[in-house]
Amino acid sequence: MKRILVTGGAGFVGSHLCERLLNEGNEVICLDNFFTGQKRNVIHLLGNPYFELVRHDVINPFVVEVDEIYNLACPASPIHYQYNGIKTVKTSVMGAINMLGLAKRIRAKVLQASTSEVYGDPNVHPQTESYWGHVNPIGIRSCYDEGKRVAETLFMNYHNQNGVRIKIIRIFNTYGPHMHPNDGRVVSNFIVQALKGENITVYGKGDQTRSFQYVDDLINGMTRMMATGDDFTGPVNIGNPGEFTILELAQKVITLIGSKSKIVYEPLPSDDPLQRQPDITLAKSKLNWEPKIPLEQGLVRTIEYFDQLLKES
Ligand code: NAD
Ligand code: UDP
Repeated sequence: MKRILVTGGAGFVGSHLCERLLNEGNEVICLDNFFTGQKRNVIHLLGNPYFELVRHDVINPFVVEVDEIYNLACPASPIHYQYNGIKTVKTSVMGAINMLGLAKRIRAKVLQASTSEVYGDPNVHPQTESYWGHVNPIGIRSCYDEGKRVAETLFMNYHNQNGVRIKIIRIFNTYGPHMHPNDGRVVSNFIVQALKGENITVYGKGDQTRSFQYVDDLINGMTRMMATGDDFTGPVNIGNPGEFTILELAQKVITLIGSKSKIVYEPLPSDDPLQRQPDITLAKSKLNWEPKIPLEQGLVRTIEYFDQLLKES
């Protein structure tokens, strides 16, 4: 049995990860400041004697004896990470320093949940890990993008200077149950709007693309990455190469729900990437991993979740 720390463990992805790690027979310490996460996401785990929930902010040091650390703490939705950009940078940068310092002291392996946003609005398509990105350092997304880029830098430096065993994954747009209904990201927005019969808000013309990954596929990739040998640090892309326009996504959601919602067009936020698609050649060869769940199947499961949630509220 390993003891594992998951920062941001009460969030969307973190709660799935905690559940998986417990199911695999590990002891899990879930640390969260509940900025975008909620106890509701992990309430079903609270009765498990091998699960511990700790309220803590990663910008402050945290001391614990663990074998592995998954560092997920950071708001991921543009509206939430832009709410307090300074705090978002602190969370990424000081959170990384604190978790790397802890990993160094206790000789734990540490995985960073990085993002496709390190590629910015990419002019290489699909994005390979060797692409350095096209990021505006002073735009509305930069607190998140640059924070995550510095976190990657810190991970590499702690590895090279101090021999810390690190893993970096670059996660592409992921969706599924446990997203907050007011999360603000596109999949949860469209599903909640369609279920309520409200207008579906497409930003811009809806011709920008994203590649959507179901959360179970991400958790498989994440845990496989953690299990690789110490010589493989990444970064490695974890995403589903199936690429769709935002308008296609809106139409799929309307059709699957059989909703009467109408599509309305709202202004495109600045620096919104035009296209995004992972090249997953490296993940296939190093992790023997590829996503298994196509968009429609994942959407159906996510719609079921939100349908139930809205009926309960
Ligand atoms: P989320 O907002 O649902 O979860 C983030 C969690 O971190 C929340 O529980 C939040 O309360 C917690 N948190 C935020 N700031 C904190 C702080 N200072 N101290 C302690 N806890 C804090 O987002 P998510 O989609 O679950 O994302 C998880 C991680 O994966 C994030 O690091 C995100 O950047 C990364 N990621 C996610 C996606 C995606 O599409 N879901 C894509 C790329 C990267
Ligand atoms: N988007 C949209 N309507 C919404 C929410 C988002 O059209 O209600 C668009 C957004 O402009 C972006 C894409 O959907 O082009 C994905 O947005 P999200 O916030 O989910 O993630 P990110 O932009 O970080 O990939």
